Amino acid sequence: LEDTLAVIKPDGMEQHREEIMEEIRAGGFSILEQKEEVLSREMAEEFYREHRDKPFYHQLVDFMCRGPCLMLVLTKENAVEEWRAMMGPTDPDEARQTAPESLRARFARDVLENAVHGSSNRQHAQQKIDFIFGEIAAE
Ligand code: ATP
Ligand code: MG
Repeated sequence: LEDTLAVIKPDGMEQHREEIMEEIRAGGFSILEQKEEVLSREMAEEFYREHRDKPFYHQLVDFMCRGPCLMLVLTKENAVEEWRAMMGPTDPDEARQTAPESLRARFARDVLENAVHGSSNRQHAQQKIDFIFGEIAAE
C-alpha cells in the first residue's frame, strides 16, 4: 500500500466538498488522517515553495489561505498515481478535453482555482504528509 496527500482546496470546499469526498470513497481509498484548517500564509508559502519563482505564486498563496482546506492522507495500492488520475490535469479546460470524468473537469473554476491537490510522487507525498500532519507512525 502507498500513501498520498490529497487537499480539497478552498474553492472545492466552498462548493463540492461532499461530492469530492464521495468520489474518494468510491475510488477505494482509505482515509488514514484528516484535518480541516485555514492555512496560514507561511504554511501556504512553504507548501508550494517549489513554485516560488512562478508568476502565479502570490495568487496561489492568497487563494490557498482564503478559507478552510481539507487535508487527507489517502491509502491504496498505487495511491499517488491513482489520486492524480482522479484529479485530472491542472487546467480544467484541458481536463474537460482529456479526462472529462475527472474532479477538475467537473469542479475546477480555472487553472488557479482547481478544487484539489495531490502529491506528484512518493517522495513528495511523504514530505507533504510530514509537513501537514507531523511524523505519523509507520505502519
Ligand atoms: P497541485 O500541485 O495543486 O496538485 P498540479 O500538480 O496539477 O497541482 P502545479 O504545476 O504543481 O499543478 O501547480 C500548483 C497549483 O498552482 C495548481 O494546482 C494551480 O492551483 C496553480 N497554478 C498552476 N499553474 C497556474 C497558472 N498558469 N496560473 C495560475 N495558477 C496556476
Ligand atoms: Mg503540483
